[in-house]
Amino acid sequence: MLGQMMNKPLLISSLIEHAQRYHAAGEIYSVKTGGGIEETSWGQVGANSRALASALTKLGLEPQARCGTIAWNNRRHLEIYFGVSGGGFVCHTINPRLFPEQLVYILNHAEDKVLFIDKTFVPLVAAIRDKLDHLEHVVLMEGKDDEAASQLPGLKFYDDLIESGDSAFVWPELDEATASSLCYTSGTTGNPKGVLYSHRSTVLHSFGINLADSIGIAAKDVVLPVVPMFHVNAWGAPYACAMVGARMVMPGPGLDGPSLVKLIDTYQVTLALGVPTIWLGLLNEASKSGSTLGSLKRTVVGGSACPPSMMTTFREKYGVETIHAWGMTEMSPVGSINQPLAKHMSLSEAEQHKLRENQGRPVYGVELEILDEAGNPVAHDGKTQGDLVTRGYWILDSYFRKTREETLTGDGWFDTGDVATMDADGYVTIRDRSKDIIKSGGEWISSVELENIAIAHPQLSDAAVIGARHEKWDERPILIAVKTEGQDPSEADVLAIFDDKIAKWQIPDRVVFTDSLPRNATGKVLKRDLREAFGEVLIAK
Ligand code: ADP
Repeated sequence: MLGQMMNKPLLISSLIEHAQRYHAAGEIYSVKTGGGIEETSWGQVGANSRALASALTKLGLEPQARCGTIAWNNRRHLEIYFGVSGGGFVCHTINPRLFPEQLVYILNHAEDKVLFIDKTFVPLVAAIRDKLDHLEHVVLMEGKDDEAASQLPGLKFYDDLIESGDSAFVWPELDEATASSLCYTSGTTGNPKGVLYSHRSTVLHSFGINLADSIGIAAKDVVLPVVPMFHVNAWGAPYACAMVGARMVMPGPGLDGPSLVKLIDTYQVTLALGVPTIWLGLLNEASKSGSTLGSLKRTVVGGSACPPSMMTTFREKYGVETIHAWGMTEMSPVGSINQPLAKHMSLSEAEQHKLRENQGRPVYGVELEILDEAGNPVAHDGKTQGDLVTRGYWILDSYFRKTREETLTGDGWFDTGDVATMDADGYVTIRDRSKDIIKSGGEWISSVELENIAIAHPQLSDAAVIGARHEKWDERPILIAVKTEGQDPSEADVLAIFDDKIAKWQIPDRVVFTDSLPRNATGKVLKRDLREAFGEVLIAK
C-alpha cells in the first residue's frame, strides 16, 4: 500500500518559484564586474530565470545540455543557476583559476554547448575557443559590448537573451532524479573528475544545510557567500537562500579584505561563508580599518581546517560565532557541521569553545564512518583514526562518465580520502588528507594540528606543514612559514610556539621561510609542490 500524499518531485525550480512568489521584494545586492553595485530582488531573479530558461529552449538546446559558467558571484550567475537547471539543462560551473589545458579538458569532457562568461574572462575564453569541440554559444553576462564581441566572434549577450525570453515561462515538471548541475573536482592529481548533482540531491541538501543545527539560514539573514559559485555551488548557499528568501549580498570579483569589510558594513551582513584564507584577509583589514563588523553574527568556515586562533579572534574581538563545517565536491558539499549539544550548555565557556573547534557531527542525510585498514569501523573514542567514508542523500554515486565500481568501495561507501577520528557523540576531527599525513617512525602526525598552532604565531602570516624525508624516521614534519610583514623571527622563535602544546616528538624538525605558499584553484595549499621543493631538506643535511 502506498501513502496517499502528493508526490511532487523535488526540483530546483521549486526553490526559485517559492522565493519569487513569497519573497518577491527580498533584496539582492550584487557587485558588478566593472565596479559599482546593482540592486535586484527575488521577484526579478525569478522572472529573469524563467526568461532565460525560455530563451535557452528557443535556442534549440536538447534537454540536459550542459551550460558552462565562468563567472563571479553576481545576480546574473544566480539567475543562471535557476534558469539553466530549472529549464531542464545542466548548470556546469567552472573554476577560472584552472590552467587553460584543464579548462579545455573540462569543457570538452562535459560537452558544454553554451558558455556564460563574465567580462573578466573574455581573453581567457578567446584563447581556448578553437579547442572547444562542442561549444555552440558563448554568452557575455552583460548588455551589448562591441569590444568583447571583437575578441569573440558570434558572441551573444545575456541581457538580449533575457529580452528574447518569456518571463512567464512555466517550469517543466522534470523527474527529480534528473541531472541539474555539474562541478569538477580541482584534480590535484590526474584529470579533474565531474560530480553530476541531481534536482533531488540539491533540494535535500538545501533542507540539510537550513536545519538549525547546520547553517540554518533564515529569512531575516543577510547572507554573503564569499565562497565562489564555481566552488561546489557556493556550498549550496544560493539554493538554501532561495528556499527561505534570505537577503543576499553577491561580492562579484573583489574578495579582498577591504572590499569584504565594506560590503559587510554597508549591507549589514549577518552571515558570511568562506575558506580560512579569505577570513585572514578580512580580519587583517577589519583590524586595520577599525571596523567592528557590527552586523556579522556567524561565519561558516570550511574547505580547509579552520585554525582555532581564527575562531578566537572572531569571537573575542568581533562577537562573531564561527561555524566549522567539513565537506567536499563529491558531497554537495556539506558532510558535518560543528554545533553544540544540550549537555554542553552546563560546561565552562572555555570548554564550550574548545568543543567548537573540530569539524562537527554528521548532518541528517549524511552517514559518516571511520574504517581501519581491513575496512572495519574503528572505535568512536575520539582517538582512533582511520579512513573517513560516507554515504547519503547528497553524496555522489559515480563520477560523470565513470561507473559506480570506479567510484565507491565494494560496500557502497564513498572514501573521502581524509583521515579522521570520531568521538562517542559523533564529532569528527579531520586529522589530515591521507596523502598529507606525516608518518614518523611508526607514528602518524597530523599536519593540520601543527598548522593550527603555527598560524597563531603573531610573527607569521601563513604556514604549512609537510613530511620531509628522513633517514631514520622515514618522514619528519617541517614547517614552511611566511613571515608577517615587518617581522623577522628566527627558527627558534617560531618553534617556541609548539612548547607545551604537543608532544616533543611531534614538533617540526625545521622551519623553512618562504615568501608565499602555493595554492590550488580553490585556495588549498599545494602540499605536493611543497614536498617537491622542500621534501629533501633533512636529507641534504
Ligand atoms: P578538492 O577538489 O580540493 O578535493 P573540495 O572542496 O572537494 O576540493 O575539498 C574537499 C577536501 O577539503 C576534504 O576532503 C578535506 O580534506 C578538505 N576540507 C574541507 N573542509 C575541511 C575542514 N573544515 N577541515 C579540514 N579539511 C577540510
